[in-house]
Parts: sequence; C-alpha cells; structure tokens
Amino acid sequence: MSEKIKVGVLGATGMVGQRYIKLLENHPWFEVSYVAASPRSAGKKYKDAVANRWLIGAEIPEGVADLTVQDANDEKAALGKCRFVFSALEMGKDEIKALEAAYAAEGIPVVSNASANRWTEDVPMLIPEINYSHLDVIADQKKHHGWDKGFIAVKPNCSLQTYMMPIFALQKAGYPIKRMIVTTLQATSGAGYPGVPSFDMIDNIVPYIGGEEEKTEKECLKILGTVKDGKIENAPGPLVSSTCTRVPVIDGHTATVSLEFDLPDDKKPSLAEIERVWTSFTSVPQELKLPSAPEHPIVVRHEENRPQPRRDRDTEKGMACVIGRLRECPVFDVKFVALSHNTKRGAALGGILNAELLKAKGFFEN
Ligand code: NAP
Repeated sequence: MSEKIKVGVLGATGMVGQRYIKLLENHPWFEVSYVAASPRSAGKKYKDAVANRWLIGAEIPEGVADLTVQDANDEKAALGKCRFVFSALEMGKDEIKALEAAYAAEGIPVVSNASANRWTEDVPMLIPEINYSHLDVIADQKKHHGWDKGFIAVKPNCSLQTYMMPIFALQKAGYPIKRMIVTTLQATSGAGYPGVPSFDMIDNIVPYIGGEEEKTEKECLKILGTVKDGKIENAPGPLVSSTCTRVPVIDGHTATVSLEFDLPDDKKPSLAEIERVWTSFTSVPQELKLPSAPEHPIVVRHEENRPQPRRDRDTEKGMACVIGRLRECPVFDVKFVALSHNTKRGAALGGILNAELLKAKGFFEN
C-alpha cells in the first residue's frame, strides 16, 4: 500500500484522545503526525503531558511519545502537518463548534467525537453499519460553507451504540419499532478523566448523567433519518424513553431494552427470527473490509448471566454490540440486555471506523 495518511488528534491527552493514540499505533492506513490539546499541555512532549494520567495500560507508542503537543485552539498550526484530524476535545459546545468549523475552513476535515455538531443539519452523525448513505450530505455541507477540502463528520453519543445496530437490523429486516424503554448502565470512563469523583462512584450508582437522556432519546432519530434537500431529515420514530445511570465499571456501557414492534401481532417476529436477523447482520464496513470493522457487528450470547462488561466488552476488538437475555416482555414485545465498549466502539475506534469509511469512499483524496 502507498504511504500512510498523516492524521492529527485534537484532545490527544484526554481519555478518548489516548485511546486514539494507542489504537492508531499500527493502523494500516493512518499514522499520527500531530497531537494537540489545551494550552495547559501545549509545548510539552506528549509523554510528559500525559505522564501521570496515561490510562491505557500499555506503553505510549514510540512515534507519538516525543511529538510536541500543540494548542488545539490554533487551527493554522495543523496546516501541512496532517491530512485530517480526529476531534476528542472537551470544551464548551460553542467553542468546539467554532473550532471544528475553523479546521474545516482551513481545508482540514474533522472526524469528531464531540457532541457540538451532532445536531448540525448538514453534518452526518455516523454509525457506518447504519447510515453510510448520510455521507451524501457532505457535498452540501461544503457548498453551504464554501469549504473546499474541509468538512465535519461526527459520531453519536456512546450510550446509543449499545442498541442502535440491533434496532436498525430489525427495522431493515422489515420489523419496524414503535416504542422502546431503555435504561443505561454507563461506565465511568464515559465521563473522561478524572471524571466522576471516586467518593461518588465506589459502592454506588449515580442515577443521573447530565444531558444524556435527551441524547439517547433523540440522536437515534437523526441516525435513522434520510438526506433530503441538503440536510438530514429525522426519522419519525421510534419513540424512546430512557434512564441513564453511571455505574462503577471502568469500560463498557450496558443497556436494558424493552421494545414494541409497529406491527400487528401475527406479523411480529419470534425470538428465533430476531436472533437470526441479528446474527446474520452485516453492512458496508464488512463488505469494504474496513480495517476496524468487526466481522460480526452483533454477537448474541445465550448464557443467562451475559453480557458482562469485564467479560464481553472486547468482543470483536471492542467493536461488537453484544446481546444477551433476549426474552419476551410482558409489557412490550421483547426485551434484552446489550453491551458495547464505550471508549472503543463508542468513541475512538468508532471514530477510526468513520475515517476508514470516509477514506474508502474517497473523501480524503483531494
Ligand atoms: P477528557 O478526558 O476530559 O479529555 C479532554 C481533552 O480536551 C484533553 O486532551 C484536554 O487537554 C482537551 N481540552 C480541554 N480543554 C481544552 C481547551 N480549552 N482547549 C483545547 N483543548 C482542551 O475527555 P474525553 O472523555 O476524552 O472526551 C473527549 C470528547 O469525546 C468529549 O467531547 C466527549 O463528550 C466525547 N466522548 C467521550 C466518550 C467517552 O467514553 N469518554 C465517548 C464518546 C464521546 P488537556 O489534557 O491539556 O487538558
């Protein structure tokens, strides 16, 4: 293969940024050539900037350890250093929105994990197995802003990744969903580092995550939406009611889901048919053999006490949605427990998969 594409990581010192650095270490297409963070870290060598807070449990990749951290607020500093950037910044929403647009305006595409642009109508919010067709809106986005090479593509909230693929697979197979009740049990790493104080987290569950329930209930509608007239039009449903909780787990978000089909009783799928739909589900990332795509995006387990974060979060390199306890629901139709790795599928590796899709579709070519 020809030379690797040089990439930058904004927010490289944070929880998600560190995952990017590690996951990109031996990536076949991309190579980290640029790291940026807050002015607090700017000017330091990467290894010094993360000295007391490297959380990944393996050595800092050699090629990155000695890079000098730049100020992420200076988009011009990235010019000529990388072809595109991953954004894993934690700042005010308006600041991130302005900064991501500034990089795009300089001709540097932004593949973002931040929530700031998730509701921007001409910005695709990608789960590549589901809404790869939303890439079409990027041409409109560039036109709206007069951007030449730059654009913005984002990832949805990490909690949704636990159940969006199973929902989509069922809808695609002809089993539309009317309503869902979701309770999430979200890992502490989802709050970044240092995150939730240990005194709140040990021996405890926190039944509130600011802004999370709204994201969980609404983002699915954009993901299931369609590109129309230069923007993404939301799908009308399903109607979701969620409760989001923080639990003392390091990595791996779990969700319990009960759902009702939008079908007459005699047309509703059996449990065996639901499992068949899930286990046979593959999509464009698998067809294109993208390097980070899981071979099996949905994995079904039959043990009565699975999935569990510690045992199942790294299934398919942390990119699978692992489902267990599929059974009938006495209130709705069926219920199940789903799990996905929040800083891999839900954050950095999911972002890398987005970039792989963009590369495979030619978005970094000129
Ligand atoms: P984090 O651990 O708090 O890291 C934040 C990063 O942003 C650090 O590199 C920090 O640099 C940088 N930063 C902070 N203030 C800045 C400023 N004023 N100017 C420039 N850079 C600044 O957060 P995280 O958990 O990695 O999350 C990063 C983003 O990913 C957030 O938008 C979050 O919502 C999203 N996300 C997180 C997860 C997850 O599971 N953690 C999942 C999906 C999406 P310093 O180190 O120099 O302070």
